[in-house]
Amino acid sequence: IGSANASRLGAYDRLLGGLLADAGFDERSCHSRYEFATYRRNAGRKPSLYLINKLRRHEALQRRCGPGTAAYSDAVEQLRSGKSHAGAIGSPECRYLVSISYQGLGNRILAAASAFLYAMLTGRVLLVDPSNEMGQLFCEPFPGTTWLLPPDFPLTSYTNFSIDTAESYGNMLKNKVIDAASTTAQQLPPFAYVHLDHDASVEDKFFFCDEDQRVLRDIRWLVMRTDSYIVPGLFLVTGFQEELGVLFPEPDAVFHHLGRYLFHTNNNVWGFITRYYDAYLATAHQRVAIQVRVFGADPESPELLEQITTCTQKENLLPGLLAAGIDPPAVPTKFSKAVLVTSLKSWYYDRLKSMYWEHAAASGEAVGVHQPSHEKYQQFGARLHDTKAWADIYLLSLTDVLVTSGRSTFGYVAQGLGGLTPWVMYKPANGSVVPPDPPCGRDVSMEPCFHNPPFYGCRIKQGVDTGKIVPHVQRCKDVSWGLKLV
Ligand code: GDP
Repeated sequence: IGSANASRLGAYDRLLGGLLADAGFDERSCHSRYEFATYRRNAGRKPSLYLINKLRRHEALQRRCGPGTAAYSDAVEQLRSGKSHAGAIGSPECRYLVSISYQGLGNRILAAASAFLYAMLTGRVLLVDPSNEMGQLFCEPFPGTTWLLPPDFPLTSYTNFSIDTAESYGNMLKNKVIDAASTTAQQLPPFAYVHLDHDASVEDKFFFCDEDQRVLRDIRWLVMRTDSYIVPGLFLVTGFQEELGVLFPEPDAVFHHLGRYLFHTNNNVWGFITRYYDAYLATAHQRVAIQVRVFGADPESPELLEQITTCTQKENLLPGLLAAGIDPPAVPTKFSKAVLVTSLKSWYYDRLKSMYWEHAAASGEAVGVHQPSHEKYQQFGARLHDTKAWADIYLLSLTDVLVTSGRSTFGYVAQGLGGLTPWVMYKPANGSVVPPDPPCGRDVSMEPCFHNPPFYGCRIKQGVDTGKIVPHVQRCKDVSWGLKLV
């Protein structure tokens, strides 16, 4: 499969069933947007007509209110002057959500996708903090405007906003600056910081309640920080449920569509991806990916290697091996399997590769094992490191079968983009190295898991099992306290 096939694809496939806008982009500036479908055997899910229309309307909003417009200048001026929304002049229909993405690349992508859905649901313009390479790795998603927050943003310290920030919605509730039941629109501040990070407080998580959403609606500027996929939490807000139901008639494909809409790799990263794919993966009959999430300081683990081999062989994803000296069965056509391993370490790849070289596969298949990079340690703010991480995530998503490491947002992004329900290798219990039995299991959906969901029932004002409120929001298998869409 290669770019020669691009012209053979109908416009429907090329634009992912209408998910992507047809006009307004210079194709040469972002090849991946138009070649995406040619590199995929799995066409993925179809977006609903309602989602397609909503995206086009949202793009128009981004153009009407985005950076460079009079409406944007007015809104920035109002924020600088510290006046509340109610006294605002200009275009009060233009309201904004600034999304701060930080942590690893998987976390950043999930944060931006979550912010985008919230922006779409609430009619806000999404602006992404360009730091942490967010301005470098992706093409612009909205035609005719930018999604990057301009450098003259008046809240100069916004990247340091944290759980302690006085203007966080949670702290404003706690300190009675805002009372969700009685504060009027005139009394609201010009901006609020929404802290939905791993350490978010109970008050911060009131964000997922209807009453609080009504207050937030009247605050013109919101700045949000999360390192998680908060979308399952949005499905708990009753005020959003009807709209979400028509946008996503298949709730297990929300990130699948949002990710394919938003995250197109820039031409530089696309070169990394296509060169690797064409050289090592394109000609195989089947591609199997194994994401081995380890940390730089972890020792090489024979137990984890065993978990990988028992999982893949038990689930028939990779063939078993014959003992030395035993001849493999004669097969009329040699079936070839390309195994893509991604990891910070090269040891697991080395072992797998040697295994399938030193022994014949019991099935007679030819098994080639490949790993694009082995960065050893996770790095922050390093362009080439992030380029390789993005290429790895993307390559994982181009395979036919995906095995992931539980709890990893890196794997979540790959499975969603690829439309692949993964086999998940669960973490051993409580710091033990002994692999769990079974070593892996098929996930219930391709959706990412929300790692720090609310544990609070808004209306009954006490703790509830938020995995039992709506049928398609359930507990995750890999993170027992997390929530995911099924
Ligand atoms: P998570 O920590 O597993 O949820 O995934 P993140 O993507 O948020 O953070 C992990 C970071 O470590 C990545 O963004 C990379 O910087 C690095 N990393 C971890 N695993 C890999 C890998 O397999 N390949 C590459 N290139 N980088 C990795």
